[in-house]
Amino acid sequence: MTTAILSALAEEQQGLIEHLHQPRRVERAGRTFWQGELHGQPVVLALSRIGKVAAATTATTLVEAFGVQRLVFTGVAGGLAPGVQVGDVVIADEFVQHDMDASPLFPRYQIPLYGRERFACDTALAQALLAATHAGLQQLSLPAAVHHGLIASGDRFVSAATEARALHAALSMAGHAPLAVEMEGAAVAQVCHDYNIPYAAMRTISDRADDSAHVDFPKFVTEVASRYALAIIDEFVRELHTSGA
Ligand code: SAH
Repeated sequence: MTTAILSALAEEQQGLIEHLHQPRRVERAGRTFWQGELHGQPVVLALSRIGKVAAATTATTLVEAFGVQRLVFTGVAGGLAPGVQVGDVVIADEFVQHDMDASPLFPRYQIPLYGRERFACDTALAQALLAATHAGLQQLSLPAAVHHGLIASGDRFVSAATEARALHAALSMAGHAPLAVEMEGAAVAQVCHDYNIPYAAMRTISDRADDSAHVDFPKFVTEVASRYALAIIDEFVRELHTSGA
């Protein structure tokens, strides 16, 4: 079973490429894909690119052109819920698109023609990612808090405390209180729903989506997120291999 490992950032992907056995580089749809093996598991590595449309194209290409049968995402996100701090990790169990608004034709946040506001991750795959996250963090001796729950995605880098609070409040009012905000996860979840492919996602919190988000974000990415992603994905793939999944 081929597993796609989607990273949001080149810094996160680099370590994985270096660990890839029999790497083959393939260009498609203006993107670079890396096929190979990690811990004896066939994998395809790709950068999601930024924003919902770009990430959906990448995910669709992974399914249609590379025949991947499950998809795992690593990236960073802004913390929205109280208590979700920089350095914590969030494992998604569901996604909502915070910028979807076809009201009054459809209820706010509902994806037209799907009759739903949220797309769920695969329970077993998300559990495996959660276990790998704990193991990876332990290896790094990092006492980060790990949360799991709803993540909101939209085509906007949220970088003002007032906006972050408003976003959290509006989603919460509608019954979709999110832990974190990013720009791709819900799009990939929708593609995986369309193809009936298991999906799991982890995001390291790089900022609080507030007025210092633009400063915290790049600093965090280069210093921390890449190490998290490598340790966690390495554990995750090793565990898939051991369990014969
Ligand atoms: N690396 C790019 C910028 C990436 S945009 C550059 O420096 O040019 C931010 C990325 O991190 C997106 O992929 C998004 O998913 C995630 N992200 C982190 N913090 C975020 C926030 N506060 N709001 C929205 N997305 C955030």
